[in-house]
Amino acid sequence: MGCSKIFWSICLDLEIKVEKIQPAYTSKTCSKCLSRKTQRPKQEQFVCLDCNYQLDADLNGSRNIENFYRNLNGLPVNITQVKTFKVDQSYDSLES
Ligand SMILES: [Zn+2]
Repeated sequence: MGCSKIFWSICLDLEIKVEKIQPAYTSKTCSKCLSRKTQRPKQEQFVCLDCNYQLDADLNGSRNIENFYRNLNGLPVNITQVKTFKVDQSYDSLES
């Protein structure tokens, strides 16, 4: 799936570098312990059967995307310092 024009426009405006990551297993892997022994009792809910970690399924997938990027680029996998922001915030509030 491609990215929307508004996505590219925002990234260009904010000078955000974009990298494509293979999406395989991003929704099935536990972002805390990397186990794939996981469940989605509901569409929006993620549960790890190995470490009992539970969180929003989209947030878990997002953390895995960051971790997969870090792993591919030889960076330490950083589970606790995931930065999130809402696209509808003004640009000024993103500069921190
Ligand atoms: Zn886990």
